[in-house]
Amino acid sequence: MKLLNTNGSNTKIMKSQKGTEYKIASLSLMPNLQICPAQNLAQCKTDCLVSAGRGRMNSVSKSRQSKSDLWLNDQSQFLDLLEKEIKAFEKSCHKIGKAPCFRLNTISDIPFEKFGIPQLFTDCLFYDYTKLPARLGRTPENYKLMFSYSAAPGYQNQVKAALKTDVPISAVFRSGLPKSFLSRQVIDGDLSDLKNLYAGKVIVGLKLKGGKSIQNSKSPFIVDNPDCPAQRYPTCNPQNLATAKLGYILKEVA
Ligand code: SF4
Repeated sequence: MKLLNTNGSNTKIMKSQKGTEYKIASLSLMPNLQICPAQNLAQCKTDCLVSAGRGRMNSVSKSRQSKSDLWLNDQSQFLDLLEKEIKAFEKSCHKIGKAPCFRLNTISDIPFEKFGIPQLFTDCLFYDYTKLPARLGRTPENYKLMFSYSAAPGYQNQVKAALKTDVPISAVFRSGLPKSFLSRQVIDGDLSDLKNLYAGKVIVGLKLKGGKSIQNSKSPFIVDNPDCPAQRYPTCNPQNLATAKLGYILKEVA
């Protein structure tokens, strides 16, 4: 079994590493309550990226499931394998003059800092999104975290705790990005995760992507852009506007 994806086939990863000194390897597991402990509180399970893009393919989903099974059934074998693969990737990056970088929780939320993984590879950069505020400020210097927002009522203590820190908070918006949210400036987070990491106390705004079902989703994980001018119109249907990208071209009616 190979744990890491080292060919950058994930679109966001490809975009993030483009034009930088970094080459990124990622790890995609099959999320469940054990490896994403906040998924019920944040109500993010239904619209989780697990079923986006290649995640719809049976072979991809099977491979993610076997990696999750290995993590849950034999953690020490999983960690041994992970260490070996990180070492090999680090070596291959150095050979081509690139700096190695790892995103180990592409669709999971495992505190790898507690298992000493980033501490073993101090010359490598690690980054992840998390829904666990208790992890913030507790990772080594080479492991950067961003917090992931949801409006789910049971998750608001977590959001408050994250807002007290300096870490960037990501939020998914429908109908474009607002200028500010939660009293923080919103930046375009779709450009590069490697830039988002160092953006400080901002909202990393991610535009909602995907087909009709996700555009119509009522998930608290998706925020309707509070700045969308179309929302003032009685006939406004934010979901259709999001799809048609008309939200920002409507003119004020006298
Ligand atoms: S925590 Fe992230 S990876 Fe886990 S279920 Fe929620 S959205 Fe998916």
